Amino acid sequence: MSHNPHAKEGLTRRDFIRVGTTGTAGIALAGMGALSASAAEPLGRLPRRRYGRTGLEISALVGAADWSADVIPLAVKAGVNYWHKGHRWTAETMPEAIKSQPRESYYLEITVDRVGGDHMHGRIDEEQHYQFVKQAVARSGAGYYDVFKFHFGYHSLNEAKTNLGVIRAYDRLKKEGLVKHLAISQHHYNNIGGDMAYDIVTHLIDHSPYEAAQFFYTYGDKKELDDVLALAKKQDFGTIAMKTMGGVGRAATDKRMQTMLAEPRYQGSTPATAMVKWLMSNPNLTAAVIATKSFDQLQENVTAARLGTMSSSDRHALGLLAAYNQGTTCLLCADCVSQCPEHIAIADILRYERYALDYHELSRARMEYNTLTKNGSACIACGDCMPACQADINIIAKLKDVHRLLG
Ligand code: SF4
Ligand code: SF4
Repeated sequence: MSHNPHAKEGLTRRDFIRVGTTGTAGIALAGMGALSASAAEPLGRLPRRRYGRTGLEISALVGAADWSADVIPLAVKAGVNYWHKGHRWTAETMPEAIKSQPRESYYLEITVDRVGGDHMHGRIDEEQHYQFVKQAVARSGAGYYDVFKFHFGYHSLNEAKTNLGVIRAYDRLKKEGLVKHLAISQHHYNNIGGDMAYDIVTHLIDHSPYEAAQFFYTYGDKKELDDVLALAKKQDFGTIAMKTMGGVGRAATDKRMQTMLAEPRYQGSTPATAMVKWLMSNPNLTAAVIATKSFDQLQENVTAARLGTMSSSDRHALGLLAAYNQGTTCLLCADCVSQCPEHIAIADILRYERYALDYHELSRARMEYNTLTKNGSACIACGDCMPACQADINIIAKLKDVHRLLG
């Protein structure tokens, strides 16, 4: 990991207040507790890493178009140069902080979904993917997207090997100069008789024009994910971790957890800081995307990413988070879903729970939950899924709780 030589240009809390007084950040400030304009704490600049075969040097923490409009200018100043779901911006809505820079200095990604249904039921359609990107480029005013990302990915190894619709759409767009690189965001599909993300990505690393992949990866995850990361590094394939912060948001509002974190052995760390450092200390991982809503979160994440190395307090904090998560927070491993005779998308349902409890995005969680063709109320309490859960979650009770929360 190479540190950016412009660290002295880092962002300060004063910058945030300046944005707040001239923009819309007042709302965000109201929720951040006491801030002082004299407390100018340097945020510094993020390190950058090579995004595999794309050759792009991207920030170790990547941004997302759904981040708060108040945070984005500050993230840019902190060195965030890669924007997940960047196609959501039009020429009018793209933040000035991004579009005012030279086009080659930042990277925009377009995520391309299946058509004719959601990610489980939709289909791959070369022409519609091609038209979707073409129209988005025209709306964006950006000229091109740096990365075409097949969103949610293939259902199975067989589909990845035989259905070339996405690749053909990408090839056509690339020839026209509308996209530059091909990546995938891969989920597990064992709930519909398909394959696990790590099996599909392993295949893509060796056998396809894909240059990079994004997938779920968090502390305590399965060995298969570490194997994918090691192979990706060896084959110069870019990797972005997502859904990394399981349990962090709920722990932050849990009084008992906060009391424990005040003990001396955790001093100087938090579960969020420790998780970011843990991710950054993996030399095989290119970057991580972490939901960021406020200056404080941005500061905590950027500072941790710059330090990278874990302290003993960080190790204790991660251990505490892992213990806290056991029995309560789904790791999204999807090991349980292929056991369910009712074909309930347990991991998707618990991902939506995470949106509500960890990201505090209740309406988004409810909206996603209510698009499911089969939700938690379809559980017949047979218990077949429970032995598969390494996180010891009482899935029957959990589905009831989530249905009460989101249904
Ligand atoms: S307990 Fe519910 S979720 Fe688990 S396998 Fe049975 S029906 Fe599916
Ligand atoms: S409930 Fe357990 S087995 Fe199922 S996805 Fe979550 S952690 Fe994995």
